[in-house]
Amino acid sequence: MSYRSRLSAASLIFLLAFLIPGQAAAFDPAELDDETNGTNWLTHGRTHSEQRYSPLDEINADSISKLGLAWSVDLPDARQLVSTTLAIDGILYVTSSFSVVTAIDARTQKVLWRYDPQVTMKAGKTLRVLWSTSRGVAYWDGKIFVPTGDGRLIGLDAKTGAELWSTMTVEPDSYYYITGAPRAFNGKVVIGNGGTEMGPARGYVTAYDANTGEQIWRFFIVPGNPDDGFEDNAMKMAAKTWNGEWWKHGGGGNVWNAMTYDPDYNHLYLGTGNGSPWNQRIRSPGGGDNLFLCSIVALDADTGKYKWHYQTVPGEAWDYNSAMDIVSVDFKVQDRDVKAIMHAPKNGFFYIINRSNGKLLSARPFAKITWASEVDMKTGRPVERPGARYEDGEELVWPGPLGAHNWAPMSWNPNTKLMYIPYHDAPGLYNDSKIKTATFQATGHKFEAGVSFGADDAPADSGTSGLMGWDPLTQSATWKIPNPGMWHGGTMTTGGNLVFQGRADGLLLAYRADNGEKVWEYNAKHGISAPPITYAVDGKQYIALPVGWGGGIAMTAGSIGAQHGWPYGVHPRRLLVFALDGKADLPPTPPPTAVVAIDDPEFVLDDALIARGTEIWSDTCFWCHGGGAVSGGGTPDLRASKIVLDLKAMSQVVRKGALVPRGMPQFEEYTENDVLAIQHFVRSKARLELNAAKAE
Ligand code: CA
Repeated sequence: MSYRSRLSAASLIFLLAFLIPGQAAAFDPAELDDETNGTNWLTHGRTHSEQRYSPLDEINADSISKLGLAWSVDLPDARQLVSTTLAIDGILYVTSSFSVVTAIDARTQKVLWRYDPQVTMKAGKTLRVLWSTSRGVAYWDGKIFVPTGDGRLIGLDAKTGAELWSTMTVEPDSYYYITGAPRAFNGKVVIGNGGTEMGPARGYVTAYDANTGEQIWRFFIVPGNPDDGFEDNAMKMAAKTWNGEWWKHGGGGNVWNAMTYDPDYNHLYLGTGNGSPWNQRIRSPGGGDNLFLCSIVALDADTGKYKWHYQTVPGEAWDYNSAMDIVSVDFKVQDRDVKAIMHAPKNGFFYIINRSNGKLLSARPFAKITWASEVDMKTGRPVERPGARYEDGEELVWPGPLGAHNWAPMSWNPNTKLMYIPYHDAPGLYNDSKIKTATFQATGHKFEAGVSFGADDAPADSGTSGLMGWDPLTQSATWKIPNPGMWHGGTMTTGGNLVFQGRADGLLLAYRADNGEKVWEYNAKHGISAPPITYAVDGKQYIALPVGWGGGIAMTAGSIGAQHGWPYGVHPRRLLVFALDGKADLPPTPPPTAVVAIDDPEFVLDDALIARGTEIWSDTCFWCHGGGAVSGGGTPDLRASKIVLDLKAMSQVVRKGALVPRGMPQFEEYTENDVLAIQHFVRSKARLELNAAKAE
């Protein structure tokens, strides 16, 4: 090459790099492990550590009074926005309902591409169990990886959104579904699945080649039938902790949320789920620890081979999965450098674990706990309270299935050395006296936890919640702030001494990270369920937040979700982006509103039909339409539905699948009489609501 052409080639590269906006920089995997570079938000927890800490400090505790809305983009088809946005080289990747991904140019606010994997049309029977929620995508070397509710993992060109490969990670029509974000490292992308409650599920995690989608390894969380042979020595070891014919019940352990890659040891940590079914007397009669339920399991990231595990809940019986985020933190305890994992699972204990070997360093309660009194540091095991396993009948236990901390991510600030945890104090009522535990067998595609579950609504004040700055050194809260109701978004913390959290009531708030003093708030005018992120473009710091009420509370939890006033389809869904001196107006949004049930005074209720309707409701309908037919906002509230007043139309929807494209599954096995029974159940709840309103 002549000097002249070399010069022009160099000039061209210079031009491409600096003059074309949005031109991607070369991919550097080291950036995924660099806490000091805050330009991008590259993976679910920003970096491999999952700390959700950004060193950016232009927006800080002093300058924050100038923080305002810089721009917004409406996402008209999105229903529930619970995902973590990725920000990579000036492009934002936002995941909305049914795994639709929108790439937006952060400089021009133009939508670059939109990818719709057509989940409702492809899900088949899986549509009965999946929620429309998706917590996000992963990125590796110019590719975006999209998991879908029906179980696919898809590789896209990050620039164009073109599909590069698609692979099915579960059996088609199965009761396994995906809501979690994949993680990518070393040219691989890993994904788990959910479905623990929706059939005899056996959880697993699979690693695929990021370039081709070819399977590299698969790790099962619980052992299968010994007669089929064990996949590896870890399953052989785990099988010794199970009793009876556990494989007929699946066992569970699904990794539906937390996975953390650790470049220091080349480990992948899995946060494993609860038992399938919840009731251990069914799952493993006679007890046993039931490995690897409710554990952190460390794998060799290249081979998927077992390295170590720590189990938070031996013999799980309460839906206490350990699927909450796993945060890698290097910190000093008594002048000793510790490479630790920090983990605050549903069960209410805050764990510090040595990530080289899985040894427990500390475990103390961070919320109200009544199932156990403490964790015995000699054995590393919880000391359970008698009766907590509802062995003597109905038992009110803290925490309940909602968990002391759920998937809304916590964040770690290396300057304040505090963990910011969105927590709940909410009990669960456990009872299996009406369950035939000896013969119980889950069949799949409906809610079957092996404990009695009512079809009724839970009161709006069933629990309390808040945000805390937790000091792992002293294992105590440095500060704590109550939040209204329950189910708020995850947190993000910055080098500007700030913590951000969006709430169910629509407020995005910023607090001083060191002392929890509220320094800023913005009314997004719609329930916030996603965690905020921060990034920089052309040296300026931005904060991005998808706003669109969603998640488990919006689906199953009735009044707990409905109380905030975000009924299905009323409030616009959008991405909000904030910056210092931001002056944009929020586009018009209706105020919070309550659902008003439709009256039909002519309708004569039939008790026998209501009883059958109650049965069907607690099997299938409540999973999305809420306890007591009170929708939390993730789906239409059927008490206000005109379709329910018209039996023919209702039958078209329920039995013929008329609304499958919109996400309402088909139940072809329900008879016309079953549809009538559901109608009577819903009408009885509508009348209950109308009578209560009249009495007020
Ligand atoms: Ca569960």
